[in-house]
Amino acid sequence: MSKLSEEQLIEIVQPLLEWYQKCARVLPWRSDPTPYHVWISEIMLQQTRVEAVKEYYQRFLKELPTIQHLAEVPEQQLLKLWEGLGYYNRAKNLQKAAKQIVTEYQGKLPPDYQKLQKLPGIGRYTAGAIGSIAFGLPVAAVDGNVLRVLSRLLASKDNISKNETKLKYENLLSGVLVEMKRAYHPGAFTQALMELGAMVCVPNGAPKCLLCPLQQLCQAYEKGIAESLPIKDGKKARRVESKTVFVLTCENRIAIRKRPETGLLSSLWELPNVEGILSQKQVKEQLKNWDLEVVTIQKLEKAKHIFTHIEWNMIGFEITVKSIENNHLFLWSTIQELKEQYPLPTAFGAYSPIKKQG
Ligand code: SF4
Repeated sequence: MSKLSEEQLIEIVQPLLEWYQKCARVLPWRSDPTPYHVWISEIMLQQTRVEAVKEYYQRFLKELPTIQHLAEVPEQQLLKLWEGLGYYNRAKNLQKAAKQIVTEYQGKLPPDYQKLQKLPGIGRYTAGAIGSIAFGLPVAAVDGNVLRVLSRLLASKDNISKNETKLKYENLLSGVLVEMKRAYHPGAFTQALMELGAMVCVPNGAPKCLLCPLQQLCQAYEKGIAESLPIKDGKKARRVESKTVFVLTCENRIAIRKRPETGLLSSLWELPNVEGILSQKQVKEQLKNWDLEVVTIQKLEKAKHIFTHIEWNMIGFEITVKSIENNHLFLWSTIQELKEQYPLPTAFGAYSPIKKQG
């Protein structure tokens, strides 16, 4: 990236920060940005909407107010706290990192960009966010919002899906942060850029250039090409899998089972299910294989759940069975136990008895 780009970007600092001071949303993690708070919020915000994160964030910190608490909480309780947020490896990595922080850094996140990146689940972006927001380090945090804003400001045709573009922009912003010579807080600059991307220079449709504090400095706006930027790879098609889900009940108990320790939704619980869309006859055969005798059977609505790379197309059957006395294939949970103890991923939400009860 040329020196000229860096000089152009230095000009945005002041108007951007003035706008941020006036217009930034009030968000729970902004009021007390300790390193732990910034870390938890940044991990939760990956792939998840701000509105959805607010409640989780507050509940999580109430239960686990310190890194020590996070390191010590039983995994199933941690996953229960994360239930519904998705991408459960994020929670597992948080705990792995917390254990390492307790052992190696006396329970405090290290104020060091490189050391932060050595912790599980913390990449360059998260290290940059914690470093700049919580520790005031002049390090960049380049997420999708920032990539889009910079591409448009500089009218850049670089493909933002490429790692080299991300590195280029990180270096560029780090240069700006060093040049600012601490006249401004690096964290405010980091957050202001992200906020502009989330609220004004938005994806999927026209950016709100008429409301933008950087309009006078924006090359894409000047050239009338803002909507065609940034350049990025097209999305890969998802793999489609079909499943038949069993809502098996007997005297106020429902069958659940634990998923394998590795792979998609590992260590979480699920409603019993099999690959493929079964007919009612095939469902009955399946129940025989599980040694269960049907009392009533009802076909449920189709449902779909979309993961990043996979799509589940599901059909459900609600089945009352006669007896569960000798059935050890499943854990037969009460609804209360399911609510309080067993993390059931949103993928099964359409058939979850908890949802049904409201
Ligand atoms: Fe984005 Fe428009 Fe502002 Fe340029 S002027 S940064 S395209 S919102």
